[in-house]
Amino acid sequence: MNNNLTVAVVGAGIVGTSCALWLQKKGFSVILIDPEKPGSGTSYGNACTIADYGCVPINSPTIFRRLPGLLFSKESPLSVDPGYALRHLSWQIRFLRNCRKTKVERISRILGKLLKKTYQGLDPLIEFSGSQHLLSQPGCMYVYKNSGEFKNARAANQLRRDQGVEFTELDAGDIHDLEPNIKLPFEKGLLFDKASQVLNPQSLTTSYLDCLLSNQGRYVQQRALSIDHANAAVSVNLDNGEKLHADRVVIAAGAFSGRIMGTGAHRLPLDTERGYHIQYTGLQSLLNRPVCWNAAGFYATPMDEGLRLAGTVEIAGFSEAKNPRILNYLKRKGDEMFDLPEQPDQEWLGFRPTLPDALPAIGYSPYSEYVLFAFGHHHLGLTLAGITGKLIAELINKEEPSHNIKPFNPARFR
Ligand SMILES: Cc1cc2nc3c(=O)[nH]c(=O)nc-3n(C[C@H](O)[C@H](O)[C@H](O)COP(=O)(O)OP(=O)(O)OC[C@H]3O[C@@H](n4cnc5c(N)ncnc54)[C@H](O)[C@@H]3O)c2cc1C
Repeated sequence: MNNNLTVAVVGAGIVGTSCALWLQKKGFSVILIDPEKPGSGTSYGNACTIADYGCVPINSPTIFRRLPGLLFSKESPLSVDPGYALRHLSWQIRFLRNCRKTKVERISRILGKLLKKTYQGLDPLIEFSGSQHLLSQPGCMYVYKNSGEFKNARAANQLRRDQGVEFTELDAGDIHDLEPNIKLPFEKGLLFDKASQVLNPQSLTTSYLDCLLSNQGRYVQQRALSIDHANAAVSVNLDNGEKLHADRVVIAAGAFSGRIMGTGAHRLPLDTERGYHIQYTGLQSLLNRPVCWNAAGFYATPMDEGLRLAGTVEIAGFSEAKNPRILNYLKRKGDEMFDLPEQPDQEWLGFRPTLPDALPAIGYSPYSEYVLFAFGHHHLGLTLAGITGKLIAELINKEEPSHNIKPFNPARFR
């Protein structure tokens, strides 16, 4: 255990706070830096699922066949701003290259293996921070409206089987018995009966932060602008002109990680898949577990504040306002599934941090031996935050990582 070093973690989303807590457990002095309330970014509004069954990337060999329908239908969970896509063409091309069957199978294998370690990363943090009340294990259900939707998911479900993911197939009667408040008849379903969910993702981040602070960790509410290197250490230049000195820096600023200069993160092809949620306060009792309408691209999740419908993918960068078409789409789909009030109580947009090969960057920056990257967790950040934190802490502690991190090496894009 090395308790002489100070580590600065930039970004207090679920990934940054998980890294910070794992580092503290290993005995490091930790400074967490974020200008915003911890957990209020993308980590706030997700679908709350610990998706250890989620080894199927969004990259798919069928994308080329489905793309016209996905782009031009009003009933599509995918939306692409053509101007933005053209300005960021190289990311789109890299993404599409990773849609080849062999690539998707490779990604799925790598994600599948990492996802098997989900609870090795998560459980110790839940215990350390006393957050047991924020986690439950109700299982998770995927539903398919008709045999066409189910057939389209066959290859993806085979990838899950190949990775040893356990699930039970359901028919319409089973779905009704398990979730009687779903009014649209779904013909087919899958039950991941061991799956867990977080009851409130922001409360989990806050609980990690409270634990960090009560064990002599520090939280600095400032924006990190850049990193300077000097004498086997680094300093983080903050928005207020202050310099924070540290022995190592972990960049965990989600989709914004490339904006912190001097780390090399801006050289990685990091972009964002925007995602949305709408939420109905107090209606959580409509469901017993998270239910994913797979073809419609969203989850309906009962969480402690209400019923949250979360998902969809929009490629449009950071500056565009919320897209009313997608919010209306979620409302329409929600109305098909449940009896809901006319208007939701919350409409939210978040920014998934996504690299074009659907694998996160976990490890040392190729440009500095004092800077580590922990970002790019796309649709799986809540699930993979714990194991990412564990691996980052092992690396800084000079331990042999407990999982093969080569596929996540940030240098793979050089
Ligand atoms: C609709 C939707 C549904 C999802 N559902 C799930 C799910 O069910 N399960 C799952 O596992 N994942 C899910 N995800 C993905 C998951 O939410 C993300 O992968 C995860 O939240 C990313 O966490 P993060 O800590 O990397 O980023 P963020 O939560 O975005 O945190 C980054 C932090 O960095 C801070 N920051 C930015 N710039 C700076 C700077 N210069 N200096 C200091 N701090 C900075 C920000 O303020 C922010 O607090 C979903 C995502 C979306 C959008």
